[in-house]
Amino acid sequence: MLKNKRALVTGSTSGIGLAIARALADAGADVILNGLGDPATIAVLREELGATYNGANLMDSGAIAEMMGEIGPVDILVNNAGMQHVAAIEDFPPEKWDAILALNLSAAFHTTRLAVPGMKAKGWGRIINTASAHSQVASPFKSAYVAAKHGLAGFTKTIALELATHGITANCISPGYVWTPLVENQIPDTMAARGMTREAVMNDVLLAKQPTKSFIQPEDVAALAVFLCGDAARGITGANYAIDGGWTAE
Ligand code: NAD
Repeated sequence: MLKNKRALVTGSTSGIGLAIARALADAGADVILNGLGDPATIAVLREELGATYNGANLMDSGAIAEMMGEIGPVDILVNNAGMQHVAAIEDFPPEKWDAILALNLSAAFHTTRLAVPGMKAKGWGRIINTASAHSQVASPFKSAYVAAKHGLAGFTKTIALELATHGITANCISPGYVWTPLVENQIPDTMAARGMTREAVMNDVLLAKQPTKSFIQPEDVAALAVFLCGDAARGITGANYAIDGGWTAE
């Protein structure tokens, strides 16, 4: 279905991005991996997916420009890399605010502005931004993340309108809680910020948000991304797809 399509998936060495990269490769795309991690593990992933890899640090706009120059035109761009930090606003470290805005929001601006000319030249493109339920609703102690994800949703709508007549779609996928390192790593800070045990954080903070009372599977998010890359999704642009077990329905 995606034969001869080149797909860059940022933050694809782990979690949701890796599941999307696997699903796009299964659908026939040539995948370019990006993300941090142990070189030996990344070499195994490259082999498994028949993929290339660029390890640019996406908090650095110069490194993004270098990466986009090195990899050349892409047909599919999945802006997925992201990070979280959990702290009360008065304790929120300014450097964490800057890092989260750079990675979760500004990186998508830079990759997109550099990918769009190639997509316009072909008259075809798919831009998928991994946003979050936090692009639509807030939770306490996540000021930077919620601000970045709301910004990403607005950015996506804007480029969808700009690119609508060029055969290029731009959409957000907004998962609820997916069991990945990003979620696991926020448990200790959430325990500290809220004075809770690990079990209480899991049940009363994380799964409390999701009426289904279960985590979303990365593979399910990936299946939605593949659908958005297909011909049947050519009329879907500027949308923000919740895959959140009913969280944002409340
Ligand atoms: P993860 O921690 O498993 O993966 C994050 C990826 O980003 C990794 O590949 C990591 O190497 C990469 N990355 C981190 N810093 C980077 C940098 N400076 N430069 C380049 N790459 C970098 O997390 P995940 O849960 O798979 O999250 C992926 C996306 O999904 C994020 O945007 C996150 O906000 C979003 N999301 C996650 C959940 C969830 O519950 N896990 C829910 C909603 C949205």
